[in-house]
Amino acid sequence: RFESIPMAPPDPILGVSEAFKADTNSAKLNLGVGAYRTEELQPYVLNVVKKAETLMLERGENKEYLPIEGLAAFNKVTAELLFGADNPVVQQGKVATIQGLSGTGSLRLAGAFIERYFPGAKVLLSSPSWGNHKNIFNDSRVPWSEYRYYDPKTVGLDFDGMISDIKEAPEGSFILLHGCAHNPTGIDPTPEQWEKIADVIQEKNHIPFFDVAYQGFASGSLDADASSVRLFTARGMELFVAQSYSKNLGLYAERIGALNVVSSSADAAARVKSQLKRLARPMYSNPPIHGARIVANVVGDPVLFNEWKEEMELMAGRIKNVRQKLFDSLSAKDKSGKDWSFILRQIGMFSFTGLNKAQSDNMTDKWHVYMTKDGRISLAGLSLAKCEYLADAIIDSFHN
Ligand code: PMP
Repeated sequence: RFESIPMAPPDPILGVSEAFKADTNSAKLNLGVGAYRTEELQPYVLNVVKKAETLMLERGENKEYLPIEGLAAFNKVTAELLFGADNPVVQQGKVATIQGLSGTGSLRLAGAFIERYFPGAKVLLSSPSWGNHKNIFNDSRVPWSEYRYYDPKTVGLDFDGMISDIKEAPEGSFILLHGCAHNPTGIDPTPEQWEKIADVIQEKNHIPFFDVAYQGFASGSLDADASSVRLFTARGMELFVAQSYSKNLGLYAERIGALNVVSSSADAAARVKSQLKRLARPMYSNPPIHGARIVANVVGDPVLFNEWKEEMELMAGRIKNVRQKLFDSLSAKDKSGKDWSFILRQIGMFSFTGLNKAQSDNMTDKWHVYMTKDGRISLAGLSLAKCEYLADAIIDSFHN
């Protein structure tokens, strides 16, 4: 019976890491997955995370099951970090927060909730978006379509296209928005554009659904990176926010994040939360505790919180330096007159190079640079020392 099971294709993002591991060339570079590396290209465990773990050992904390909704101290600080502790929606109990299996698991739980309570409602994804969004909504059996986002001509935002596609979506659709540092393009709307996006979403009775995987990583400021979400909540809108601590606290494998649902009343929030628990119970019963305690210790402690902000600025700063050096190297080496300044306008971990699939294949096959086939490179996996090599590879791939 298992003989009839077909082979699944490798994952377009995580499959890149597998191919990278198998490559024996010493020049190889893994710019596929969005994981922060040091200048020596080594994985980085934040000092505040080590301190929080030491605290946990000293306290001799146990490994009992968490409640279905997760660690209360985590849920409290994660909502406060996102919305701001003094935000009326937090103070009035209008936010249902449930600990999720990182960003992905939180999105998937939201998918299950939409499928159950909004049958037939559509999710609108940006074109392009993080590759896993489509998988998540396919597996949740939630229909989705795309709104225009990236304009290859300007290597910027197709704002008019975005607005008109959101307008045209069936009333009451869920509009998936990247809270900051859009993946894969690195292009975010301006504050004025966010206001207009909120206008059309309200006009059409749509429900905003934020994916916040990079809070603190786009600008280096936790508050600035949450401003899009806060702008929408300030308008009294009901909305979803999936959060992830994979990048900003480097907790990739701890699978720690949350789903926040803002409702119009505390009563509705309590009912929403009860249903989210009901959906989570048969899927994974209750979430893991280790990452939740780390976040609760770091975000909930003023000293560690400040140290975290410094470390995050360091990480965001290293990425900005690499971005600048890559731009400088490309501009100096490329004799074609191509304008590379779009690289500097993009923010976050990634650069969307504009390389097409064949050119991305050349990057890997000839230059041993591993990246996703949509032309995205992770600058978090690049060092200053490798910028010149990468610039050579990009120029060769673009022009040949
Ligand atoms: N959303 C976006 C846009 C992402 O880029 C990522 C991470 N690559 C995630 C969600 C979720 O990641 P995780 O499940 O590790 O939190």
